[in-house]
Amino acid sequence: LPDPDVAALTGGDVDLLLPRPANESDKYRRGVLGVAAGSDLYTGAAVLAVGGALRAGAGMVRYAGPRAPVAQVRRHWPEAVVTELDRPSIDGVGRVQAWVLGPGLGTDDWAHELAARVLASTVPVLIDADGLTLVARDRGLLRRSAPVLITPHAGELARLIRAERDDIEAARLEYARRAAAELGVTVLLKGSTTVVAEDARPVRVNVTGSPWLATGGTGDVLSGVAGSLLAQGLSCYDAASCGAYLHGLAGRLAAGGAPLTAADVAAAVPAAIRAVSGGT
Ligand code: AMP
Ligand code: MG
Repeated sequence: LPDPDVAALTGGDVDLLLPRPANESDKYRRGVLGVAAGSDLYTGAAVLAVGGALRAGAGMVRYAGPRAPVAQVRRHWPEAVVTELDRPSIDGVGRVQAWVLGPGLGTDDWAHELAARVLASTVPVLIDADGLTLVARDRGLLRRSAPVLITPHAGELARLIRAERDDIEAARLEYARRAAAELGVTVLLKGSTTVVAEDARPVRVNVTGSPWLATGGTGDVLSGVAGSLLAQGLSCYDAASCGAYLHGLAGRLAAGGAPLTAADVAAAVPAAIRAVSGGT
C-alpha cells in the first residue's frame, strides 16, 4: 500500500505550482533573488548558482560577494546585478524577496559574518554547501522567524544533525523528516534520490533526475533554481520540490545518455519548464 505520508510530484503538479509572468508583470514583481555565494577560492559556485537562478525565472538576481567571484559572475552573467563586498554586509545590496546562501562561500570569519547578516534578514533563505557547514558549527544562526530551506547531501546533513552518513543513506526519508522537525526548517535531501521534508507535510520524493548529475557544480545550480522559485513566491516546500523536479528533468534533458556539465544543467532548465507547461 502507498504510504500516505509520502507523495511524488508529477509534471502536472509542477505546471500548476510554477509562477508565470502576468501581462502586467515587471521584473521586481516577478521576484528578486539575492545570492550570497562564492569566495576568492571558489568562484565557480557563484557563477553556477546565479545561472540556475536566472534560468528558473526570477525577475532579477542580485549577486553579492568578494572581488574574484564578482569578476566571474559579471563576465558570465551580464544580466545579474552585482555588488562587490569589501566587508561582510548586505546593506548595499538592495531589496530581495529571498536569498541563496552558501555555495562556495568558504567557512572563515568573513563568511560567518555574511551568513549572520543574510539570516538576520526577514525574507526566506535557502542554505547550501558552506552555508550548511557554518550552521552546523553555529546552530544559533538558524534562530530567525522567516522560513529556511536547507539543501544538504547526506554528508552535509550528517554534520548538521550529528548523525552517521551511512545511517542517513539507509533511511533518507526518516532522516529528512527528523531533521525538518529538529531544526524547524524545510529539508531538501539530495542524492541519487531526492526527498523534501517539512513538518506536518507528506515527504515529497523526486521522480526526475539522472545519474549523470553526479558531477561537480550541479548542486550549486539546484540552489539557484530553488532559490529563484522562493523569490517568485513559492513556499519552501513547493520551491524545494518543484526545484528538484525541474533540476532533475533538466539533467535528464542535458545528459541524453552522455556526460553533462553543471552549466549544461542550468542551460536546460527552460526546456524542463517548457516540458511541464501545459500550453502556457
Ligand atoms: P551536490 O551534492 O551538492 O554536488 O549536488 C549534486 C546534485 O546531483 C544533487 O541535485 C543530487 O541530487 C544530484 N545527484 C547526485 N548523484 C546523483 C545520482 N546518482 N542520481 C541522480 N541525481 C544525482
Ligand atoms: Mg553541493
